[in-house]
Amino acid sequence: MGRVAAIVPAAGRGRRVGAAVNKLLLPLAGRPVLAHTLAAFQAAPSVDEVILVAGREDLDACRRLLANESFDKVSAVVPGGAERQDSVARGLEALGDDVEIVLVHDGARPLVPVDLIEASVREARRRGAVVAALPVKDTVKLVAPEGAVRETPDRRACFAAQTPQAFRADVLRRAIAWARAAGFAGTDEASLVEKSGGRVQVIPGREENIKITTPDDFILAEVLLARRAGAANGGRGAFGGGAGVPAESGTWRGVTTVRVGFGYDVHALVEGRRLVLGGVDIPFDKGLAGHSDADVLTHALMDALLGAAGLGDIGRRFPDTDERYRGADSIGLLERVVELLEREGWRPGNADLTLVAQRPRLAGHVPAMRERLAAALRVPPARVNIKATTTEGLGFAGRGEGIAAYAVAVLRQCC
Ligand code: MG
Repeated sequence: MGRVAAIVPAAGRGRRVGAAVNKLLLPLAGRPVLAHTLAAFQAAPSVDEVILVAGREDLDACRRLLANESFDKVSAVVPGGAERQDSVARGLEALGDDVEIVLVHDGARPLVPVDLIEASVREARRRGAVVAALPVKDTVKLVAPEGAVRETPDRRACFAAQTPQAFRADVLRRAIAWARAAGFAGTDEASLVEKSGGRVQVIPGREENIKITTPDDFILAEVLLARRAGAANGGRGAFGGGAGVPAESGTWRGVTTVRVGFGYDVHALVEGRRLVLGGVDIPFDKGLAGHSDADVLTHALMDALLGAAGLGDIGRRFPDTDERYRGADSIGLLERVVELLEREGWRPGNADLTLVAQRPRLAGHVPAMRERLAAALRVPPARVNIKATTTEGLGFAGRGEGIAAYAVAVLRQCC
């Protein structure tokens, strides 16, 4: 079978939500709306590739968002066009000829269930063009511009179209080419196929697959996300404690929260030891004394993570009286801390670290430390910030007797 690609138009100023920025970049349960949307396609087994289409003014913000996430299926961020179908056409141009099925999905539908994506792909292979849709609950009126009702169509025949809409690539390419030639602009891709004489099959959409358009939609989406997190937790936590009461699992009135922790560590500089900082061996005539490899930076980070989760400190987890930890690789211990956090329902968000050392010069080693620590935390390097400072010759660090490290880390609740 050929490849499956998703085109996600993320254009749209948030005029209706009253925001000056693109509403898809606004936070929903602590993460941009668009990140939730992309996470669904990242998790969908049948999807090979994702093209993000954004307005020119949002390209940088979208690239920053991607740098903070691990969406390796996103192969390109392309600038959008004047109309939605122009944006989708730009996305199509970025795809290879080996793509068999193209999904088009609104960036503003962050709650799209993975199984709806899978069903859309399956049905598009059979039918050529499918759209997820739900029967409307309200009676629909066709209304003239001056406000008079023109017609009341039979409600049983009325469906509200959602996305994803899924197409065989040749069907979508033909429909867009027809629309361009005919000067037709549709509000969804299925309408281009219909107008050009093609057949589009409806498959059942989902109530939870809402489109975020107004400020109230953010509130509804956060409640739906919390319900989903609660279901994933075996029913624990989503609304634990009731409205207005903080729940044990880290939710507050259905909104996912973050936790912050702080860590501090010092080791003495002595002759005859390696100097290991952030998992990186640094050439120097002295190294740090300690039971393990004495990686003071990684130790401060572990304490910040354990502190955020309320799990004590590394002294309690990996005591220096325990022979198993003699000469231990602190990066290995950090990986164990991350596993422990995950079992407790937490994932690292970001970390900000400061090393305090008079000598050696550390700035040149920072990128390598950042890579190692980010890999152990299983986050992109952009989420780990490392600063190195001296103390202008003051105190133990200034006299070269030791190195200190400070760390702040944020944890996010796993969903
Ligand atoms: Mg230590």
